[in-house]
Amino acid sequence: MNTLSGNAPPHAPVIERVETLLLDLPTIRPHRLSVATMNGQTLMLVRIHSSDGITGIGEGTTIGGLAYGGESPEGMKLAVDTYFAPLLVGADASRPQALMARIDSAIKDNRFARSAVETALLDAQGKRTGLPVSELLGGRRRERLPVAWTLASGDTARDIDEAEKMLALRRHSVFKLKIGAKPLDEDIAHVAAIKRALGDRGAVRVDVNMAWSELQAARGMAALADAGCELVEQPVASAAALSRLVRRFPVALMADESLHGPESAFAIAKVNGADVFAVKIEQSGGLHAAQRVAAIADAAGIELYGGTMLEGAVGTIASAQVFATFAKLQWGTELFGPLLLTEEVLATPLDYSDFQLTVPAGPGLGIELDEERVQFFRRDRSRHSVALAPVAATSTNNDPAADPAAMAKEA
Ligand SMILES: [Mg+2]
Repeated sequence: MNTLSGNAPPHAPVIERVETLLLDLPTIRPHRLSVATMNGQTLMLVRIHSSDGITGIGEGTTIGGLAYGGESPEGMKLAVDTYFAPLLVGADASRPQALMARIDSAIKDNRFARSAVETALLDAQGKRTGLPVSELLGGRRRERLPVAWTLASGDTARDIDEAEKMLALRRHSVFKLKIGAKPLDEDIAHVAAIKRALGDRGAVRVDVNMAWSELQAARGMAALADAGCELVEQPVASAAALSRLVRRFPVALMADESLHGPESAFAIAKVNGADVFAVKIEQSGGLHAAQRVAAIADAAGIELYGGTMLEGAVGTIASAQVFATFAKLQWGTELFGPLLLTEEVLATPLDYSDFQLTVPAGPGLGIELDEERVQFFRRDRSRHSVALAPVAATSTNNDPAADPAAMAKEA
């Protein structure tokens, strides 16, 4: 096949250039996880430019640098520039699957960087064919996705206040609490207080990010079930421990960090190791790989949740395009990443309203970067200086605690 042997057939659009850049964006408040506290987010953007004038965009983003896994935004940029790009330049741009196969034959692991590159190839192919990425992935089944919000200020009263504002704005009614950094009893009291305050108006779930021992998890899950928590995400690190905890308590158990793509999904499914999978495109190793994880879950009777690596708009919408194709999505999604950032990088902001995110309907990802904002926030902007209004004048204020009126307008 031409693509795999290196040259594009005559008249095929050819990949001319692969561009990568790092964007540093502040968050609306410190985001506290058991593994890291984030005060900002770094997005690694990939742009694949082709001879037909079409450019596809993709995003690789992690949680807290290297705190979550083996890839960092800086490392992804290096990997794409040094190893992915030479495999792409000169090849037929209209064959994303064949290009990804070529990458897989030369590059091991690097799931996040792989996801960014696949996103850019599919965005471009969608623009080329006039189809949304969801259609390239088999066809969407839903136009809107429910979106949970994460309460992670580290302070109970502030979290309750934030949840109340989200309910009033009709932006979120499902709340995920980040716990595991504090003593167990303190965490349980925190969860119980929030659930008591919200009652039936809001669902409460927790994410422990692997912080507990198996014994702590057994004690914690029993107490969380009593407190009215409906789901516990990755309380322990190992998949084996997860499988020993599942269905012992009246609370759903979700695998997140244990899921590293289809092979790990199969291994967990084989031992009935979870009630729910948090599917993430980056953790899975890309968009098609995320669909394979979902297919394994379906076959095993495991329910699905659309997870986030706290990506910005590009990674979030790539995820949304995939989740829109899932046959089942019993637990909704947590695609709130762009709302955690103070700055808008899209020409048209995403539509978060009535507790849901609208999956864009245009070709490709269906979104467009605001180039001035991109240039302004890129890490090496001193070398790419552009005239732009001061940040404050054009920022999108996503912090409901700071300005509910601004939030309401946006929502
Ligand atoms: Mg998680």
